[in-house]
Amino acid sequence: MSPADPELDRIPASDLARASYRELPFYEPGRAPVELDLSDNTNLAGLPPTAAKILASAGAPAAAPLVTRYPSLWAGDLKEAIASYLGVPARCVVTGCGSDDVLDAAVRAFSVPGDSLAFPAPTFSMLDHLARVNALEPYAAPLAADLDVDVDLLLAPRARITYVCSPNNPTGTLVSPAAVDGLLARARGLVIVDEAYAEYAADDGAPELARRATTDGRLFVTRTLSKAFGLAGMRVGYGVGTPEIASAVEKSRGPYKVGRLSEQMAVAAMTDDLPWVREQAREVVGVRERFVAKLTGLGLRPIPSRANFVLVPVDDAARVASELRARGVGIRPFARAARVGDGVRISLGPAVVIDPVWPVFAEVLA
Ligand SMILES: *Cc1c(COP(=O)(O)O)cnc(C)c1O
Repeated sequence: MSPADPELDRIPASDLARASYRELPFYEPGRAPVELDLSDNTNLAGLPPTAAKILASAGAPAAAPLVTRYPSLWAGDLKEAIASYLGVPARCVVTGCGSDDVLDAAVRAFSVPGDSLAFPAPTFSMLDHLARVNALEPYAAPLAADLDVDVDLLLAPRARITYVCSPNNPTGTLVSPAAVDGLLARARGLVIVDEAYAEYAADDGAPELARRATTDGRLFVTRTLSKAFGLAGMRVGYGVGTPEIASAVEKSRGPYKVGRLSEQMAVAAMTDDLPWVREQAREVVGVRERFVAKLTGLGLRPIPSRANFVLVPVDDAARVASELRARGVGIRPFARAARVGDGVRISLGPAVVIDPVWPVFAEVLA
């Protein structure tokens, strides 16, 4: 491979992409349009009202810069709104194009190719993907029998990144405080706690862990505006860590990741619209408890959930999913999930959306 022979060290064009990218399938859930989509855990209540006004104004000539000009580099206004929502310093916050982007940036910032990424199974389906695109070894540690994370199993690979999700997608179960303490005390590298559904787990969104992340140099907590805040299409997420962690993730993320319209709508949703968000979350929790009671009445064993969805073990998830779909309702099937087996994850929402479809669930699941 001498420089005199430039042709000899050329990598074939077909090998230029990272090896870990080649076998990676595209995320294509193959969802045909459906009347009522209860498959993705988004807020089914419509737009937060103040955020809706900003959206409506975006077409007005005076608001053109919202669309035509670049956004701020690091979304400073949004950081301030997040900081006051959680009661943390703004310098501990990093934002991104959805929390997927924040997770990706954090994984990249705190690992090098060849390290491993440990996560529970089942959990958020993006984790295996995040490991592979970053050339890390994915290590899936089945949940414990009580559906808490299995700390010893998660720590076994001595991974540079350990991810847990609380409430966990798709089980809806919380990671116990003891498990979080165990991970933080013994992990080799960074511990990420994904709190995408925090707003449904407690009235105030339980910011304790985010606050702890501002001083624990091993903890990074991520959250999103895609679920309780009703802005999935605007792609806004964030993470909280020490100032050092936040700035490392931010360097990895790069500038201009949150659009202007997205930032303004997110700020509105986190300030003026907070009462709306909290009221919606409370309603969904009530709907969830009634829905779970009815499922139990059918003889099913739904997993007790702290999120805006419920995972119901069934004999044949693919069959249940296609029978529901044939009746206009989309849900997310899981086949042979670790610890759970086959199950269907059903997103919940306001009573006006969910109550009318109960007869469909009763017919298919009974
Ligand atoms: C939905 C979800 C997210 C949100 O992803 P965004 O990129 O912010 O839309 C993150 N983590 C989990 C576990 C989720 O279920």
